[in-house]
Amino acid sequence: MPTSQQNDTAGSLRAVVIAMVCFAVLISCTVNEPEVAIDTSVNIGEHSIPDSDNTFGDWPKHGRNHFEQRFSPLSAINKNTVERLGLAWEHNMASLRGLEATPIVIDGVMYVTSTWSRVSALNAKTGKLLWAYDPQVPRAWAGKVCCDVVNRGVAVAAGKVVFGSLDGRLIALNANDGSVLWEVDTLPDREQWYSITGAPRIVGNRVFIGNGGAEYSVRGYVSAYDLNNGDLLWRFYTVPNSVDGPFDSAAMETAAKTWSKSSALDGAGGTVWDSMAYDPALDLLYVGTGNGSPWPKYTRSPGGGDNLYLASILALDPASGELVWHYQTTPGETWDFTATQHMVLADLDIQGQTRKVLMQAPKNGFFYVLDRQTGGLLSAQNYVYVNWASHIDMNTGRPVETGLADYEKQDRYVFPSAAGGHNWQPMSFSPDTGLVYFTARDIGWVHSMAEDKWFTYGADNLEALIGEQSVPETSGYLKAWNPVEQRLEWEIAIPNIWNGGVLSTRGGIVAFGTAMGDLQLVDASSGSLLKTINTGTGIIAPPISYLIDGEQYIAVLAGWGGPAFNTLQGNEALLEYENRGRLMVFKLDGGPVSLPLTREPPGAFPKPPVSSASAEQIERGRQLYVLHCGACHGVYDSIPMLPDLRRMTEATHQLFERIVLGGIYEAKGMPSFADALSSEDTFAIRAHIIDRARKAGRLTVELPEP
Ligand code: CA
Repeated sequence: MPTSQQNDTAGSLRAVVIAMVCFAVLISCTVNEPEVAIDTSVNIGEHSIPDSDNTFGDWPKHGRNHFEQRFSPLSAINKNTVERLGLAWEHNMASLRGLEATPIVIDGVMYVTSTWSRVSALNAKTGKLLWAYDPQVPRAWAGKVCCDVVNRGVAVAAGKVVFGSLDGRLIALNANDGSVLWEVDTLPDREQWYSITGAPRIVGNRVFIGNGGAEYSVRGYVSAYDLNNGDLLWRFYTVPNSVDGPFDSAAMETAAKTWSKSSALDGAGGTVWDSMAYDPALDLLYVGTGNGSPWPKYTRSPGGGDNLYLASILALDPASGELVWHYQTTPGETWDFTATQHMVLADLDIQGQTRKVLMQAPKNGFFYVLDRQTGGLLSAQNYVYVNWASHIDMNTGRPVETGLADYEKQDRYVFPSAAGGHNWQPMSFSPDTGLVYFTARDIGWVHSMAEDKWFTYGADNLEALIGEQSVPETSGYLKAWNPVEQRLEWEIAIPNIWNGGVLSTRGGIVAFGTAMGDLQLVDASSGSLLKTINTGTGIIAPPISYLIDGEQYIAVLAGWGGPAFNTLQGNEALLEYENRGRLMVFKLDGGPVSLPLTREPPGAFPKPPVSSASAEQIERGRQLYVLHCGACHGVYDSIPMLPDLRRMTEATHQLFERIVLGGIYEAKGMPSFADALSSEDTFAIRAHIIDRARKAGRLTVELPEP
């Protein structure tokens, strides 16, 4: 652990910035439930919306209801009783990587996904495994995803469990036994780098699913499939197929006008990789769209333009897929500011009027409240430190960019970073407090058009880029946001920037997990800490709550991962324990949590082999390593989830080229890089690894390289 970096703000900042640049570079690198029945038995409070399900004790949908509020009406676990919370049961998810799924609980059965899109059904009271299904995702697909082999969950309706696989299939299983009912390929072309990590949503007999890949030049779209048989019903593309036509749809003709004639429309991004919500009364489906591809608009659409429908919230007719309205959060998106972050629908009293709103805190740092009937902007305020825009103009609905946003001719240190002020980790809205709870972060990112700087960026330039700005300390947060007054109610600082999604309940508590491995339960009104349960496993997934036989449970997946931001600070669980993925379920008067196995102390570094590489080859190897290897294997430190290449054995050194080019470890999730690297390149990378291993062997604390 590089303690010297922790004591050196510039150093740790530099490490984080470079790690994040590295992330950027990698980029180049039974249920027959009624759908709209209203549960009148539950008084949800003055900010209430009707629950779109009548399953009081279940967690039947991704966001519990179509409004995606992630608020449980259960209250047995509350401010007075939460101290008694303990472990009811746990389940081994057979994963060493990131777990991001929301479990679905219906009629006493929990349906949950693990890494590699594997699905399990468990008795939600006892944890007994009922069935499991593995879609056998080709492990080489790991090379086509930016941010780990994660999956955010299933959708369940009409006795079917539907989910997307990492390699782009949509699969429906029999909820009773896990047998396959139908399976379709949602991708237009399996050679392109599409992937699915998001959860489908089901409305009536339609299943909606998008995909990821905007980092890899794909063209974004969302599709609707028939729940009964998997037939494709419609597909809505989010960016035009051409700037001149013919166009896929009227929406694309409109969108094309916002791209310059010289646009590189070979994909162009805008993927619908996570967030959706549905309003049964308005019968509108809301989806969020991702970043542009490539990131800089200067090369993507050199003549300018807003580049619709990137970084937008879209309201679609769920029957036809026709666009009803759009709101673009970041016109001309050029900073990886996706608008795929979780959207929450609620009815809020704003200036004496009850407004049907849609709320989102997308990556760009502003919290938006929209009229969900029209898409009109009601308010927007920054929820973290933002320097790319001064504010959102309420007349135009557009951000007013500062000079710090433009990196066409000069590098810029931009807040929020490409990790977003807030990312996919779901928010929770409590109708009792009227507050929205979410985990957020202050961290910046150096955007540059000079590709070689991606490899060489360091503190020298960062200090100059910061200049007169007073930038915040890098930190994670839980924020309690008042969406009516658009202000922060309270916040809790968290050492690591990459933490979990959030649950709020009628019991007056907010529950969320942290990179430290803590499930924290705080007072929803004041933010005061009520209870911490250390699981020993970093948590990024959102907790849920459900009721069986009169007992309330809180469940959460523990397993840290996602993009390898390389921020080990505040990541004690990952440093101390094996990152063995576990489903943890808690109840009042439950038992103690047993901590995972302590990570084997790594011991002394093995003596690396002798290398004949020149200094130039080692430097070239360093650049290639950052570009192709660092995001998973770590730039300075190793990310403990994956092998520390500095510790390669002599045998692995011998096999290095066959691993990197030949793909002999594809079954382990290490794809072949034969498309990107030559034999000479792998020699250089190995020379850099040997160089690092030598230095690591000499120093107890490895210092950042110049
Ligand atoms: Ca992105």
